[in-house]
Amino acid sequence: MQQNITHCDGYSFMLVNIDCLRDSTHFNIVMDLQVSIEALLPYLAARLPGCTYTHGTGVINLMDAGHIVGIHPRQITITDVTGSEEARTLCAKYFSSIQEVESNRSSITPVLMKRSTITVMDILRALPRTNCGLCESATCMAFAARVFRREVPIGLCEPVGANPKSYVSLLEQLKENGYPVP
Ligand code: SF4
Repeated sequence: MQQNITHCDGYSFMLVNIDCLRDSTHFNIVMDLQVSIEALLPYLAARLPGCTYTHGTGVINLMDAGHIVGIHPRQITITDVTGSEEARTLCAKYFSSIQEVESNRSSITPVLMKRSTITVMDILRALPRTNCGLCESATCMAFAARVFRREVPIGLCEPVGANPKSYVSLLEQLKENGYPVP
């Protein structure tokens, strides 16, 4: 089930009701760009923390506060928004990023090769896995997933530093993927 198309300067977007229910509050955004950004993708990939991009595939993927975002030359998809206001804000944010990259392209080093990507399991492996609850997550697995989704910083797990070798390695991976590190 789709809602009306909203037109903005440079793009339009619509919400797709992913529950197919009249009173659902879960939507995906389909944002159509008026002009292709294919040439900008490697520069945009350099600007978006934690994204995955392989040059030539024509798509950037990233997690943004729980939303799965796919950036294609003429279209951006964003999952799981609650309504028009959130959609409007997210679309404006990504369009503004595109404009910023377009303006500053000459000073950005483009991403022309595959970036390493961190997974929930990479994070979990570095945690103590004692499920102590100090981070206010029920389990270390739940905490790892929350860190991966950028909902909480790794620093909320105090015991993680007990194994300095794996902790330092995790911090390097997180930093490389654009996560905040202590
Ligand atoms: S504080 Fe660390 S060790 Fe304790 S449950 Fe959370 S992630 Fe696991």
